[in-house]
Amino acid sequence: MLVGHQPKEFLLAVEALTVSFDGFKAVNDLSFYVDENEIRVIIGPNGAGKTTVLDLICGKTKATSGSIQFRGKELTRMKENEIVKTGVGRKFQNPSIYDDLTVFENLEISYPRGRSVFGALTFTRDSAVRDRVHEVAEMIFLKDKLNKSADLLSHGQKQWLEIGMLLIQDPDLLMLDEPVAGMSVSERAKTAELLNRIIKNRSVLVIEHDMKFVEDIAHKVTVLHQGQILSEGTMEKVQNDPKVIEVYLGH
Ligand code: ADP
Ligand code: MG
Repeated sequence: MLVGHQPKEFLLAVEALTVSFDGFKAVNDLSFYVDENEIRVIIGPNGAGKTTVLDLICGKTKATSGSIQFRGKELTRMKENEIVKTGVGRKFQNPSIYDDLTVFENLEISYPRGRSVFGALTFTRDSAVRDRVHEVAEMIFLKDKLNKSADLLSHGQKQWLEIGMLLIQDPDLLMLDEPVAGMSVSERAKTAELLNRIIKNRSVLVIEHDMKFVEDIAHKVTVLHQGQILSEGTMEKVQNDPKVIEVYLGH
């Protein structure tokens, strides 16, 4: 044992993770580690197992074997709502916002509840919620759309709103599945700016196909193929990896 050598503390440590669907291993002995304040992007061809990895981390799918440690807590044995409480937020591919509510109301209802509120504290609490809603609205470029009904937002603005609904819960790990799909070029650039801003307090795990976007945000890229890691490292490293080039050219 090395004297004075401390094992590195990762925010998220996925080790030997496997899930088998009727004998088919969608994720197969996968290990990867995400640092604090890191933006990690997972890329890979369709069916590589990317979405399944997020499903496993958020508890939507149960692992067949392996471990997922988040701040030292084992997630594979927890239920979805317990995982949310440990500080993991997940955005699915299609936005799940309330169309008939305003932007303000969508953010307000996403504010974490649970602490008991006594009458005398209601006012303080309400103003705290309002302040936080405004803070998040500014971050997601919707501060002048607070009173607009969510169904009137553009596709990109709806995606930002849903990111905002997660941010208001202040997760330590935010997971996004193809967040810029269907966005315009300028919306993509703003989303990259948004992600780069929010990692001051958290880490982000993103699945994305748009290579320009990946280049704009990724600290490290993990390339998945058939449920396993094909390559991992900086964007430059994986882009020049012959194994990656072969898989992408073959598609
Ligand atoms: P990606 O997001 O990389 O495109 P997925 O994680 O969605 O890939 O899927 C990986 C593989 O696992 C696919 O072959 C898919 O059909 C299969 N799969 C995903 N979820 C399930 C499930 N709940 N039951 C059975 N097969 C599944
Ligand atoms: Mg997917």
